[in-house]
Amino acid sequence: MRSLVALAAVLVGCVQGDFTERAGQREAVALAWHAVGGAGDAPAIGWREAECSTPTDEGGRLLGFLERGQCASGAHFTAPEYVNLVWPGDWRSSALAHELMHAALYRRTGDDDAGHMRPEWAVANDVALLLP
Ligand SMILES: [Zn+2]
Repeated sequence: MRSLVALAAVLVGCVQGDFTERAGQREAVALAWHAVGGAGDAPAIGWREAECSTPTDEGGRLLGFLERGQCASGAHFTAPEYVNLVWPGDWRSSALAHELMHAALYRRTGDDDAGHMRPEWAVANDVALLLP
């Protein structure tokens, strides 16, 4: 199981990331957003440069960016709402499905469950495996 470090934060007037769409992004986001039960339009994706990495359970390294003192492969922000991701080389290895699960929970409950306590998390990794 890959270990994802992700953060939820409220930012005031400081949006980070490059919001240029990647090849295949529209399809990957639509697939993942539907699979996590997202309502309305999926949040925008802002890409961050890889600047750190964390060890995975399989002995590899997971690329990330520094966010509040942690190396995160993704982050979901709520004010305004958007997602930051680092590009690991394919959609399946990215934190896209994970961060969209945060967003879907936020839309549904008003809380993006930063502590990953809700039962919905059981499907987040399965959703990632649906991606190219
Ligand atoms: Zn998370």
